[in-house]
Amino acid sequence: MTNRLAEGTRRKSRIKRLQKLRTAIAEKGLDALLISQPENLRYLSGFTGSSGWLLISEQSAILAIDFRYVEQAKGESPGFEITQTKQQLRDWLPGLVSDFGWYKLGLEANFISYEGYHRLSEAIKTKQVNLELVPTTGIVEQLRSIKEPGELGFITKAIELTDAAFEQARAIIRPGITEKEAAWEIEKILRQEGSEGIPFEIIVASGSNAALPHARPTEKTICSGEPVLIDMGARINGYCSDFSRTLFLGKADKTFREIYSIVLKAQATAIERIESGMDASQADRFARSVVEQAGYGDAFGHGLGHGVGLAVHESPSLGPSSTDSLTDGMVFTIEPGIYLAGQGGVRIEDMVVLKNGKAKVLTKAKKDLLL
Ligand code: ZN
Repeated sequence: MTNRLAEGTRRKSRIKRLQKLRTAIAEKGLDALLISQPENLRYLSGFTGSSGWLLISEQSAILAIDFRYVEQAKGESPGFEITQTKQQLRDWLPGLVSDFGWYKLGLEANFISYEGYHRLSEAIKTKQVNLELVPTTGIVEQLRSIKEPGELGFITKAIELTDAAFEQARAIIRPGITEKEAAWEIEKILRQEGSEGIPFEIIVASGSNAALPHARPTEKTICSGEPVLIDMGARINGYCSDFSRTLFLGKADKTFREIYSIVLKAQATAIERIESGMDASQADRFARSVVEQAGYGDAFGHGLGHGVGLAVHESPSLGPSSTDSLTDGMVFTIEPGIYLAGQGGVRIEDMVVLKNGKAKVLTKAKKDLLL
């Protein structure tokens, strides 16, 4: 696509996103919504700076940023009214809100600090502005959870990049290399292949370290006769991929082969049985019951998966206590695991998109017992 065409598509999708957001704002009985979560900001306005505020009402779309970001915002967020802020939120927001005549302002409860909220409330009182602050959660996240074709394109590219990088990475995971060295080699490969930085710290966990679901690479040397759990991802145009595989160096023992095949079966079962319209907790149940029936229920101590998009972890959440439901267009991971303290662990993570009611696997890297 030429740049101008791409820009046109971006603009159109931003207009659509704003329309959907405005509907949600009206449904909640709000006059406007204040957005500060960086991925939400980027999703709605295209602005990629690390700090800024977006105010969306039926009529207005205001991007408030400080001096550092003025030029960037003009370039990235055409169509938005750009306001340069000189002080703290509490100094400028009450005045702006009363100019617009808004009474009910939604805040992102998960992103505004208690301190920020408290000071803003004080400023509203002091300035005698008639304004109610309404905590909200998940409004923009809900929109973000359903991917547009363009977004799916970027995610697919990030996944393809990860698959290709993993093929190269397998060659460097050999006895004698430390976990840290291996993680650094993988990071280099990802960046050489074109990833925009790395969306999260790469995990290379060998031997008993593989029993820690979120292990950090250590100075430990990877040895023959050990499992090696690798968790890595790439980022393309802001969109992430998330991927895990477990390798075994040398001949895998019986326990490892057993837990590997249980995890694989749990994953395959979930992929096959997940359907649009179902509760996300049910998706988790499909995989969890396979692990439980095999006697390893206690060793699968995290949720089945999570949405992936501009953030590595976003809506929906696929866990036992999730209240999300699954809809066509959602992109998420399916990553059951079994972790045996002191021995090691297995996690196999693929990304899928819900399409025509079913889960379509996007990750292509091999996952038969990896040696
Ligand atoms: Zn993940």
